Amino acid sequence: MNGQVVEARKQPTWILTNHLRERYVERFHNKKHYEHLRTCSVGTGQKCETCVSLAFDLHAEVQKNRNYLDKVLAARLFKAKEERSYLNNSEFMQRMYTRYGYEPFKFLVHDEVLFVVLLKEGKQIVPTCIPARESVVGGIVTRPKFRKRVSPDEVTRN
Ligand SMILES: [Zn+2]
Repeated sequence: MNGQVVEARKQPTWILTNHLRERYVERFHNKKHYEHLRTCSVGTGQKCETCVSLAFDLHAEVQKNRNYLDKVLAARLFKAKEERSYLNNSEFMQRMYTRYGYEPFKFLVHDEVLFVVLLKEGKQIVPTCIPARESVVGGIVTRPKFRKRVSPDEVTRN
């Protein structure tokens, strides 16, 4: 298993994958630096020097800061709230099943980060994280409009 077990007090154990660390750095932690990876217009099958160079950066940055990243990720997972509404979004779930297989899923949100959690063989594997507010994987899914314990003012700002 390419992951590290992170224990949190009286909390389930999460398995953090390297893919999760890379997506977290790319999409949240150092978002500006990796902007090009999200906006590159060079088609698949063609080589883009900038993309190649950034992929090296990302790999190196994750290796170098792995312990720090794991602490940050564990802290955010610990504070995250489960969002069950994603389970009712069939388009979103179909994409999850296609990518990760027909496993039970759980979705945890902390601020702007949506953590995808895969429940497999009694373990909680976290394969990736996605911006909770933006559309994701193909532009269909947005963050659920209403959350518990949110004032009407906060809702309209979303
Ligand atoms: Zn590129």
